Amino acid sequence: MSKTPSFDKDRDYIGFATLPEQVHRKSVKRGFEFTLMVVGESGLGKSTLINSLFLGDLYKNRQMPNVEERIEKTTRVEKKTMDIEERGVRLRLTVVDTPGFGDAINCEDSWRVCTSYIDEQFRQYFTDESGLNRRNIQDNRVHCCLYFVPPWGHSLRQMDLDLIRRLHRKVNIVLVIGKADCLNKQEVRKLKERILQDLEDNHIQLYQFPECDSDEDDDFKQQDRELKASIPFAVVGSNTILEVAGKKVRGRQYPWGVVNVEDPEHSDFIKLRTFLISTHMQDLKDTTQDVHYENFRAQCISQISQHALRERGKLKRDSISSTNGFDAAISETDRLLLQKDEEIRRMQDMLTQMQEKLKQTHLMEMKKNDSVIDV
Ligand code: GDP
Repeated sequence: MSKTPSFDKDRDYIGFATLPEQVHRKSVKRGFEFTLMVVGESGLGKSTLINSLFLGDLYKNRQMPNVEERIEKTTRVEKKTMDIEERGVRLRLTVVDTPGFGDAINCEDSWRVCTSYIDEQFRQYFTDESGLNRRNIQDNRVHCCLYFVPPWGHSLRQMDLDLIRRLHRKVNIVLVIGKADCLNKQEVRKLKERILQDLEDNHIQLYQFPECDSDEDDDFKQQDRELKASIPFAVVGSNTILEVAGKKVRGRQYPWGVVNVEDPEHSDFIKLRTFLISTHMQDLKDTTQDVHYENFRAQCISQISQHALRERGKLKRDSISSTNGFDAAISETDRLLLQKDEEIRRMQDMLTQMQEKLKQTHLMEMKKNDSVIDV
């Protein structure tokens, strides 16, 4: 009996080709979370840019402090969350703002506030991960830090370098030059060159774009090249919609003309939006998990195991110094010592595994970027 072609097809079909769709369906159902930290002194256009990027109004109830308040003020952390939906895909965006950053005469505490916020989120995640209910852990870790550089300097300032140096091993830093419409094309180019030079001279490693896969199409490769070449992004933001040549555009009206925020000739706004939302959001999350969080976790485990070792030593000393005590007490001490030994052994195993994993990631990154990465 002859078989029909469709039967042959069904017989050869196992079904795992639908795996990507299954993953897709599950992820869409679960929704996505992304946390963005914005850092930079006030007035650099941070809130305007965030509103322009996510087409929202995250800052409608904002109150500006007066001069006296600003002198005294210490940096705070303000968290705003917005649920966005696009073609059935839900994104919970959290923007962590640091009002007061660099405003006070003494801005030493500014970096401390940022670093402790990032560490605190890692710590919380670590605690949740080690707890009993690991199914519904909320990921509040900072996936990207947009660091605003003013357009009026000649390059990075000492305070920028100080902060970036303290943050670059904890979070993916992406530099943006705010209010770039203050500069002409040549000035933008020069400022970008000087910033990149400063970073190199100070051995600072910002977020590294992954290499583009060779099987990607040419348009994607071209887009990837352009994104990489634009760093640090020189951006312009605006909350105003203007009409230019019959088209509605987000822009800034000046007596001599309109700056169209979305025009690549005027600013890198579209490139930043493409990078942050369309092409690299997942990689920013993966790097946070695989590099920054793993680093934090390794440090935590090493601290815990050192603590356990100290405790063990203390227990041993106590048991030796106790006068030929009761059998029951000794056996209790032995039990505790065994418990500690087991704990230490577990911690050390975990630590070795993590160090191995970090080494692998490190090697892979080095191969990709052909340069040394600090992790
Ligand atoms: P933030 O304090 O850093 O959040 O700054 P804001 O977003 O509140 O902006 C401060 C002022 O700068 C406001 O008057 C904005 O309209 C203006 N502004 C925002 N973005 C830009 C920009 O890209 N270029 C220029 N020239 N002005 C801007």
